[in-house]
Amino acid sequence: MSDAARAGAHGIAFERSPRTTRYLDPSQNWAPAQITSEIRRDPLLGTTGRLAHFVGFRPQPEDFAELAETTREVCPFCPERLEVVTPQLPPDVFAEGRLSRGEATLVPNLSPYDAFSAVTVICAQHFVAIDAWCPDVLRNAISLAGDYAKAVREAGNDLPFTLLSWNYMPPAASTQIHPHLQVIVTDEPGENVKRRIRAQREYFERWGRPYFDDLVETERALGERWVYDSEHLTVLTDFVSLSALSDVRIVFSDHQVLDTLDDAALADFSTVTARLLSALGETGISSFNMSFFPATLDAADGGRLHAVLTPRLSFSPALHANDIGALNLQLGEPYMARSPEDLAASLRPAFGQAAPDTPSGGS
Ligand SMILES: [Zn+2]
Repeated sequence: MSDAARAGAHGIAFERSPRTTRYLDPSQNWAPAQITSEIRRDPLLGTTGRLAHFVGFRPQPEDFAELAETTREVCPFCPERLEVVTPQLPPDVFAEGRLSRGEATLVPNLSPYDAFSAVTVICAQHFVAIDAWCPDVLRNAISLAGDYAKAVREAGNDLPFTLLSWNYMPPAASTQIHPHLQVIVTDEPGENVKRRIRAQREYFERWGRPYFDDLVETERALGERWVYDSEHLTVLTDFVSLSALSDVRIVFSDHQVLDTLDDAALADFSTVTARLLSALGETGISSFNMSFFPATLDAADGGRLHAVLTPRLSFSPALHANDIGALNLQLGEPYMARSPEDLAASLRPAFGQAAPDTPSGGS
């Protein structure tokens, strides 16, 4: 009997390999002691990451208020300068020059990453704290990515991928305090996106169900990393995360690409994200990267659109020590100093959840 033919079978496995470091403790008169860590394997990609317990580590919130004041007067994205100093789209792409919805405005990126590379200024406000986001503001800004992709394609460009990312605040590599998104419409989404599409397709061919449908069902039943279900999506933390503080993954249950998100799905995502950012802020997080990972519209790929939110931090703000080092940048091995299970437990109360409310199936 094939794996896929067994009733209820799925290919989700959470592999852990515990490690123990022994040492003689200088604070205990050199008595033998030990510290544990863990190597984990990503259930989709098979790649490894580490759970390494930094002794006594707690994220320290960073205050960007002073930086916000000193950058406001020269900010190109503030309303009094935006229409003067930012470029316009050529008329063959969009006749009005800039796309806008509510407070959000999309303009070409003057430091482009591709032929069609844009920046969406999210709002009129120069600085928005992580716990002060309004869902309507986020929805308008995110929806401009689809508007831009549509304009690019209607101008005769056969570019199937719409990429949307957010670098929030300087620890996440943002060079502007004023909140903005990066949008790229391309035929080349990069190896990380392509690898996830390939892995989902291989899973679908073997197991007969979308990987993320099985992941969500399994995580919901286990309860350790599940956070919240809404009408259009599920919020989880990642078993193997890129962030030292663990990642949050928002999985759309019925969408493959950003471009097909309707108003209801966009509103749902924005409401959940605003609540999530506020909850992350309460845990001491002040900065993050967020990206959407598109699938394809080919039903045979069994792909699902998902967004990953990766908290960023300074391990030691006084020393300007950031969270990217040789292990995760060069050796490609991410490590977590806070477990995704702890992060999920700290986020569930913000969604009125103490534990999964619809357990089903097993792991
Ligand atoms: Zn500004």
